[in-house]
Amino acid sequence: MRAIFIAVGSELLDHDKIDTNSLYIARKLGEKGILIDMKMVVGDNRDNLSWTIKNACKRSQLVIVSGGLGPTEDDITRESAADALKLKLVFNDDIVADIEEMFRVRGIDMPQINKRQAFVLDGAEVLSNSAGTAPGQYFDDGKVRLLLLPGPPKEMIPIFDKILEEKISPLSNFHIYKRILKFGGITESEADSMISGIYRRYKNPITTILASPGLIEVHLLGRAKKDIEEIKELTDQVAEDIREKIGEYLITEEDVRIEELIIREMTRLGLSLSVAESCTGGGLGNVLTNVPGSSEVFLGGVIPYSNELKTGILDVKEETLKKHGAVSKHAAKEMAENVRKLTGSDIGVSITGIAGPGGGTSKKPVGLVFMHMSTPEKETGEYRIFPGDREVVKIRTINYCLNMIFKYLKHDKV
Ligand code: ATP
Ligand code: MG
Repeated sequence: MRAIFIAVGSELLDHDKIDTNSLYIARKLGEKGILIDMKMVVGDNRDNLSWTIKNACKRSQLVIVSGGLGPTEDDITRESAADALKLKLVFNDDIVADIEEMFRVRGIDMPQINKRQAFVLDGAEVLSNSAGTAPGQYFDDGKVRLLLLPGPPKEMIPIFDKILEEKISPLSNFHIYKRILKFGGITESEADSMISGIYRRYKNPITTILASPGLIEVHLLGRAKKDIEEIKELTDQVAEDIREKIGEYLITEEDVRIEELIIREMTRLGLSLSVAESCTGGGLGNVLTNVPGSSEVFLGGVIPYSNELKTGILDVKEETLKKHGAVSKHAAKEMAENVRKLTGSDIGVSITGIAGPGGGTSKKPVGLVFMHMSTPEKETGEYRIFPGDREVVKIRTINYCLNMIFKYLKHDKV
């Protein structure tokens, strides 16, 4: 089966907002063997949107629309869909009761305008929205399948995930088998040159390499109309061949982020962590604290951006800064050791570098970053000259440190 996706909202046609819902939906549909043929962005105009929905429904077995289900005048998806399919909109009392209850919990009377959200395409199923007021709708008369979803991703995702499992996935005539391999400490081009000879041989499984600075994911997607066993075997074989080539850089084959693995593993081992971050400005701490349950592991940290804070709070020796500079392996080592002492953590990680664009010299160029990890077993000091602009250098540094912590847990702790 194939699908068309329509993002609704004039703001998405402007220069500062981008449609990300289609990316999420394409990924999830792809995992079920359903491909998106076309995606479109349509502004808040009832005629344009009803024309688009009408034509999409003529061309595709599944049409998914996100946005424009809010209560205001510019939210016109319900009316446009009704125009397109020549359906009535039916007022649904249960929806109003739900929205009223949502406002009551917040201590507010429901504004009358929210009643607009209670209109449902005649015959559509109402998809409740636990994160907002606009419910989704799913219409299926055997010929046309139209799914209306709210625009905000936090509201769209849970509704889409549920209807995908319950109604859409069973319609797929493809079987899917997926393998994910995540690598760190190797660049995309290095990885590709080592494994392209393996995966280029096959159109099925499809291989996708996703690279963020410092981390690489290889996705293998096998598809079969009837018997998945054969393609499953082949996909596993491709995964094994890839492992053989670059297995030393493998982080995980689970669909989880490296920071989640770190928190999970450190929780299991009863270890704690603190950070001293200069040029990343707290970015490593931010990534780690995005993981639920990180408080079991992450004690906190210091952002000693200035030299005064490096010596003042972190006790880095004046002499070290004078002799070697703030961006040096010596400063990094003292920062990691001292943040560990200061917080009483098992592991201390420090970062000091030149993110650019200014501040570089011939001896210490832009992108030079020293990282240090102080642990009960050993001291690990590393440096890299990362390519990229200020933001990219910061991301690469953070990912490098995550990889450094992960490697320590994997090799020294297990
Ligand atoms: P609301 O009740 O919030 O008005 P809605 O269904 O009417 O919900 P919109 O008004 O279209 O949704 O969008 C609300 C916000 O959701 C947008 O400002 C934007 O931030 C986000 N959003 C909408 N569509 C998308 C999209 N396709 N991708 C990413 N974000 C989106
Ligand atoms: Mg809206």
